[in-house]
Amino acid sequence: MFEAVESPYLVPFDGSFRVATSLTGPTQEPDKKRAEKALRKRIKRMRSLQDMLYAQNEWSVLLVFQAMDAAGKDGTIKAVMSGINPAGCQVHSFKKPSENELDHDFLWRTSIRLPERGRIGIFNRSYYEEVLVVRVHPEILAAQRLPFQPTNGTIWDERLESIADHELHLARNGMVVLKFWLNVSRDEQKERFLARIKEPEKNWKFHAADVAERGHWDEYMNAYEEALNSTSRSWAPWYAIPADHKPYMRAAVADIIDRSLESLGLAYPTVSEQERSELAAWGKTLERGES
Ligand code: ATP
Ligand code: MG
Repeated sequence: MFEAVESPYLVPFDGSFRVATSLTGPTQEPDKKRAEKALRKRIKRMRSLQDMLYAQNEWSVLLVFQAMDAAGKDGTIKAVMSGINPAGCQVHSFKKPSENELDHDFLWRTSIRLPERGRIGIFNRSYYEEVLVVRVHPEILAAQRLPFQPTNGTIWDERLESIADHELHLARNGMVVLKFWLNVSRDEQKERFLARIKEPEKNWKFHAADVAERGHWDEYMNAYEEALNSTSRSWAPWYAIPADHKPYMRAAVADIIDRSLESLGLAYPTVSEQERSELAAWGKTLERGES
């Protein structure tokens, strides 16, 4: 099974992660140019690793992105995937579930969109919303038509257990599950919302509902803390990435993806002696103009 690569942002597996002490920005004054250069370097490496992943067709990779509004999920996904062959990569965004999706268990809608072997799948939000937004807004749970009334205390433990089991199952079947929480500070979120109001080209990004959601900040932080502690495992690690400085955040995410792919020891499929001589025979046939 895949094993998590080290990083200062790796959420430990023993439940000791605390949102209150996790970083929302780089510890030193960040250098934008340097971060962008690091990102480009990582993207270049990821491109050739993805090519091998695709050719080898054994491992699959799932990248999960979760964050508060305006933390930069979309931009990070765009930046990280910018150099990657789109044929081997798919992005799925999960919003409020449809009626059809609500007719199924909560893992159904993401399960049918999991990446195939050789592919990279990106989830922009995911089944984790079921222990985040649904936890913060119990009225959403009430609308999920569960035939029995879930007891408020146990349902979140049960869901987190289901998620952890699900990810272990995926890992046992050759999936690399990497999860990124883009940890933006409350102050920085405010600045970004204000920019969306003041700058005309950003107006379209402003949603009044996002401001209301901000009022639930502490409840979200509690829900994140519990979700990350309950489900960060070596085979499906969480990384809590400081998100207040965008170039730094993007480089940090790319670094972890690149090193994780590297750790798989990917290689192009090898050709047997017999296949090699068959290839040579086909070459001769073509050269002789017989086909
Ligand atoms: P952006 O705002 O950058 O376009 P977004 O991911 O915030 O991206 P929105 O359409 O604004 O997209 O929001 C999607 C909303 O759907 C979020 O508020 C999220 O919490 C909600 N959502 C996602 N999954 C579920 C779920 N399972 N149940 C209820 N709400 C969900
Ligand atoms: Mg939104």
